[in-house]
Amino acid sequence: MPKKGIIAVISGFSGAGKGTVVNELVRKYGYAISVSATTRQPREGEEEGKNYFFKTKEEFEQMIKDGKFIEYAKYVDNYYGTPKDYVYSQIENGRDVLLEIEMQGAMQVKKDFPDVSLVFITPPHVAELERRLFKRGTETEEVIKKRIARAAEECSYMKEYDYIIVNDGLEECVEQMHCLLQSLHFTKNNQQQLIGNISRDFASYSN
Ligand code: 5GP
Repeated sequence: MPKKGIIAVISGFSGAGKGTVVNELVRKYGYAISVSATTRQPREGEEEGKNYFFKTKEEFEQMIKDGKFIEYAKYVDNYYGTPKDYVYSQIENGRDVLLEIEMQGAMQVKKDFPDVSLVFITPPHVAELERRLFKRGTETEEVIKKRIARAAEECSYMKEYDYIIVNDGLEECVEQMHCLLQSLHFTKNNQQQLIGNISRDFASYSN
């Protein structure tokens, strides 16, 4: 049986660059990324099943009723949720899975799965956040303003995270994330299988 993979939650303000960091972690190091369901409209170039599973509000609410989500949240007028099946099958196969989710969802995961580590990615300052949101050019000014207002509220969640990483340069941020994620394999919670094996070894050795 392969050693189980880890699950790590990654959040950050909209525009913190976490999507780009996560994509690099997938490309460079082969992490699995959970594909979320959302009721938001696809952005140009986004693909069904790759970026998101795009759902109607009714479909999403039915999935909530059917207990299909690890967590879900409403973010700026839309639902977002992490489907259970994919994440569980990946960690059973030894893959490390990244959940890129916003903070309400992250707090839900922390409550339901206390062993999961929460990582927060932040830009070095707010002016940089605003610059990145405008540069991305995918949202209207009104939506950008909403996202910055939301980020100001979200700031209070930062202290609930286990690790905070500053994204002040893609490559450095990706390397720091990879080091951190690899180190999570060695926490006692992620070594339960090994602890069990060694305890059994000792038991049979002394018999
Ligand atoms: P966007 O609309 O920019 O793709 O995503 C908006 C926010 O929703 C981002 O902060 C993103 O991390 C978050 N998000 C994406 N998928 C999920 C999910 O499955 N659950 C939760 N709680 N948040 C998500």
